[in-house]
Amino acid sequence: MSGPGTGRNVAVVGGGVAGPTCAVGMARSGYDVTLYEAYTKRVQDVGSFFNLAPLGRAVLEELGIADAALKTGTVCDGITFRNHKGRWLANNPESTTNIMRGELSAGLREAAVAEGVELHLDKRLKSLRERPDGSWQLGFADGSEAEADIVVGCDGVHSGVRPHVLPEASPPRYAGVVGSGGLSEVSDHYKVDGLFHMTFGLHGFFGYQVIRPGQILWFENHYELQERTIGELADLPNSAWIDALVERHRTDPRELGEIIRASVGTVWRWPVYEVPLLERWHRGTAIVIGDAAHAIQPHLGVGATLALEDAYELTAAMRREPDATAAFTAFQADRRARVAKMLKQAQRMGSVMTPRHWWERMMRDLTLPIAIKQGIKKSEQGFGYRLAPWPPTDQAA
Ligand SMILES: Cc1cc2nc3c(=O)[nH]c(=O)nc-3n(C[C@H](O)[C@H](O)[C@H](O)COP(=O)(O)OP(=O)(O)OC[C@H]3O[C@@H](n4cnc5c(N)ncnc54)[C@H](O)[C@@H]3O)c2cc1C
Repeated sequence: MSGPGTGRNVAVVGGGVAGPTCAVGMARSGYDVTLYEAYTKRVQDVGSFFNLAPLGRAVLEELGIADAALKTGTVCDGITFRNHKGRWLANNPESTTNIMRGELSAGLREAAVAEGVELHLDKRLKSLRERPDGSWQLGFADGSEAEADIVVGCDGVHSGVRPHVLPEASPPRYAGVVGSGGLSEVSDHYKVDGLFHMTFGLHGFFGYQVIRPGQILWFENHYELQERTIGELADLPNSAWIDALVERHRTDPRELGEIIRASVGTVWRWPVYEVPLLERWHRGTAIVIGDAAHAIQPHLGVGATLALEDAYELTAAMRREPDATAAFTAFQADRRARVAKMLKQAQRMGSVMTPRHWWERMMRDLTLPIAIKQGIKKSEQGFGYRLAPWPPTDQAA
């Protein structure tokens, strides 16, 4: 294939959201792309879902892979917000998509393979060494090695690539939040209404959608100051975790407890980490993008969208500018303000999630409808961000 990348090979590390999307774009630009993913199936991928914001879908549409990647998703025609007393606060009429993480990644990987990307599962990157000629030597946990001219680390918040490329970057920091997600089987009292229902509970934030008659996807986020590892949380018996969540939402609208109690299979739980804005995202011809570069708190539901935008903008920059280091520099300069804005916005949203005092809650309930209206306006304007059209090959350098 011809294109700006002809003759050069790219190792994309991480097959979650940013990785396979970036692989699609690179392969289309003539690079020889290999995608390395640590797992065949991650435990987190089995029971949890994303709510994908409109700009996330727009990236997939622009690349022509939305139908394939989102085929198992459920469209939400709007998001409703209410407080712990069940009082309605605001509506967000934006159309979003709920989709299981594992299914989104699988759909994106299929799209990458269809573009000619070589996919290797069970390849956990352990070491990365820059060679004197500027290319990279990758080492994997199974003892195998590979070489690449360009490395793109899309391996998430606990990135294995980041410490090698950016040794000065601090490790991810615990955000003081634990997230849970589950699938519940409920009576047909719960109607399929196409809405994502969010509740600012007294001690945690809860969201659910009736995806089909009798089935609900839900998530919950709450503050826990004392960090517990993913292993410690996973070791708790499922029934104990369900009991704890039901108790946490005892003072909220009754159906929250009902939905949690009706969970089928494992209720998934994770400690949430963040990667604050780093000084730089690249060194030489290696770069990190998505959560590996800037993991955001989950309160805005835009982490996956930012990861998709990164993948799109990085590959578009490389179509315009075949020198990888120059393309990375341009990419970082373009993306930084948008990412900084979203990180700040998510922190602000987190601070109103579960206020400690009644008067803070009252202020939140009074100001939230206005804030959401402003947020919708900003989000309609892409928070000042619009996807640039995908540069065609004949316009690429
Ligand atoms: C509780 C919670 C809820 C969230 N809800 C939403 C939401 O509703 N909407 C939204 O947009 N975002 C949400 N997010 C954020 C979203 O999950 C991330 O922003 C998004 O997944 C980032 O995509 P990514 O491709 O950068 O990383 P990931 O999706 O994490 O993918 C990284 C991939 O790299 C692989 N990997 C890791 N280490 C290695 C290694 N050493 N070698 C090879 N492969 C490796 C992993 O197995 C994984 O497949 C949420 C996050 C949390 C924690």
